[in-house]
Amino acid sequence: MAELLSLEEALKRILERVTPLGPETVTLAASAGRVLGEDARSVVDLPPFPSSAMDGFAVRSADTPGRLPVVARIAAGVPAARALELGEAMAIATGGVVPVGADAVVPLEYVVEDDNKVEIPANVVHGDNVRPRGGDVAAGEVVVPRGSRLRAAQIGALAAAGLDRVVVARRPRVAVLSTGTELRTPGQPLEPGEVYEANGVLLATAFASAGADVDVLPVVSDNESSHRAALEGGLEADVLVTSGGVSVGPHDLVRRILGELGVEEIFWGVAVKPGKPLAFGARGSTLVFGLPGNPVSSLVGAEVFVRPALLALQGASVPGPVFSEGRLATAVRRNAHRDEFLRARSIASENGVLLDPVLGQESHMIARAAAADALVLAPRGEGQLGAGETVRYLLLA
Ligand code: AMP
Ligand code: MG
Repeated sequence: MAELLSLEEALKRILERVTPLGPETVTLAASAGRVLGEDARSVVDLPPFPSSAMDGFAVRSADTPGRLPVVARIAAGVPAARALELGEAMAIATGGVVPVGADAVVPLEYVVEDDNKVEIPANVVHGDNVRPRGGDVAAGEVVVPRGSRLRAAQIGALAAAGLDRVVVARRPRVAVLSTGTELRTPGQPLEPGEVYEANGVLLATAFASAGADVDVLPVVSDNESSHRAALEGGLEADVLVTSGGVSVGPHDLVRRILGELGVEEIFWGVAVKPGKPLAFGARGSTLVFGLPGNPVSSLVGAEVFVRPALLALQGASVPGPVFSEGRLATAVRRNAHRDEFLRARSIASENGVLLDPVLGQESHMIARAAAADALVLAPRGEGQLGAGETVRYLLLA
């Protein structure tokens, strides 16, 4: 491993190799988690008409205070048959169409109604409790810009704006291949020397949450022919992610065989802990990540390097990784040569988020990592980061 790339440089080289995938049209109901491929514009003014923000009475503000006859009752979805005349009031429900002639709504709780008349004790201000037509967004304006990831708020906005379909990026097809003769599928008994295979489902879960369509290939043992056949198949995907076999041992075959299959290695080795021997390459438009096999190394590599690539493939305007700031709950020793991603629990406190690194930070300790919801970045350097020190962290999706 000649020279270890910095985190920033590695991410830059990965994102440089990304060619965004083509678009497809999906129904809004099927768009959760997808990335919008073009600006979505509102079909209508929103609200589409001046609407009441309260249950109350529609009036002309100039007629208040006063005692006004109630000449109609307006329900949501059922506009009044006529305009409001001078000196009149109309009862109106939240979401009802404010009638022509009215310029304000007095809430029910501020008035007394009897004998089909409403007593309005105080002066009402023009525009009060009326949501103007187009006040949220106007017809033809952008509701959600391209490159946005569609979550509940965005999907709700698109529906409210009258869209039933959206153009999104095609899902990246990701092939996941775990390598290692020692790996057994959970559910079967372990023979001596074997461990349960964790990375296939771990990576599939991580990538699915980044919008990918994931194919977990059968595990291969550490021999050339099974590696070659499986890698060849995996290279048909948009992204091939392997785990294990990228270090310097005699049974680490992934990089060499990828090379023989025409994959250009763009880098191998990052100044990041865990996950130093990460390999990244490309063949045509297929991106290839070789993650080290320790499950925590695979997890960190997936979150820090693969997820941004998957989001960039989908044209996300912010592919990440998106760091937040918090403070360390306890002191941690820094690594002199590598930026370290510590598995930590995030705890909301009065002074912002506290990050408490879990006990057991070794890269095989996936069970310890299961208690964490955050990866704290401890930049390389001498000495320690003290309790209370500000750090950057990634939330685990
Ligand atoms: P490697 O990167 O192949 O040298 O593997 C490093 C360590 O991670 C070894 O202890 C492997 O047994 C373990 N390991 C590799 N792949 C997996 C996997 N898919 N699931 C669980 N442990 C793994
Ligand atoms: Mg191995």
